[in-house]
Amino acid sequence: MERRAGAAGKRLLIVFVLLSAMLAGGQAEAQNPFTSTAYDPVFIGEKSEIEIGKNTDEQLRQKYRISTDRQLNQRINAIGQKLAARSERSNLAYSFTVIDDELVNAFAAPGGYIYITTGILKKLKSEHEIAGVLGHEIGHVVHKHSLKALQRQMLAQFGLSIMGAMLGDGGLSGSLIVKASEISAGLLLLRNSRENELQADAEGVRIMHAAGYNPRAMIDIQRMLLKEAGGKNPPAIISTHPPSQERIDAIEQAIRNMP
Ligand SMILES: [Zn+2]
Repeated sequence: MERRAGAAGKRLLIVFVLLSAMLAGGQAEAQNPFTSTAYDPVFIGEKSEIEIGKNTDEQLRQKYRISTDRQLNQRINAIGQKLAARSERSNLAYSFTVIDDELVNAFAAPGGYIYITTGILKKLKSEHEIAGVLGHEIGHVVHKHSLKALQRQMLAQFGLSIMGAMLGDGGLSGSLIVKASEISAGLLLLRNSRENELQADAEGVRIMHAAGYNPRAMIDIQRMLLKEAGGKNPPAIISTHPPSQERIDAIEQAIRNMP
């Protein structure tokens, strides 16, 4: 949408920014594209993003055991939809899926595909806390964190040849969508940057409040994770969405600033 309005000058600027970023941060990006703050513009269009999400979802459904508990899936989806409706990207068709796994984790693919494990659900004490985890993941979708990481990874892997295809008006071709989805599925278990986490929390607090949940539940989750981080079996979510006192302080500040 934004890029459709873009004049030649704007497109040139994007190309320049991307080139600079590639030259400046190529190696770091190859390790973890989530932690790079080298550049920010999103140039994969929403239509392509949704197709990548759909394809990634198909791959994840083969890779992980999806919970067959229909009631549980419906309950989680209902909470998620309530939150997503109040998000800044409420136009997306969100899906919330329970993965049957003891690992304590949750993650978001591009386009609104969100996953939560039975392992983390066992640790959450209320619907507010479930909403806290889902709200945070919706925040990642709103800020397109997975999509940005995917772009960086594709540029690092394919270089300039990929750029023309990405900037094209018709969106990514079918084969590129499949390729992008494979990469996207592989990125989901990487560590998010602290900037990503703070952004996702802020959006999470906002939509929890708007949907009638108590955003303080996010603080309880952070405290629980911080406590367990030093224990025998540190939850996997610590490596994808690292908890911190900084996050707790920022969430408290965001709650104080709420109207
Ligand atoms: Zn996160």
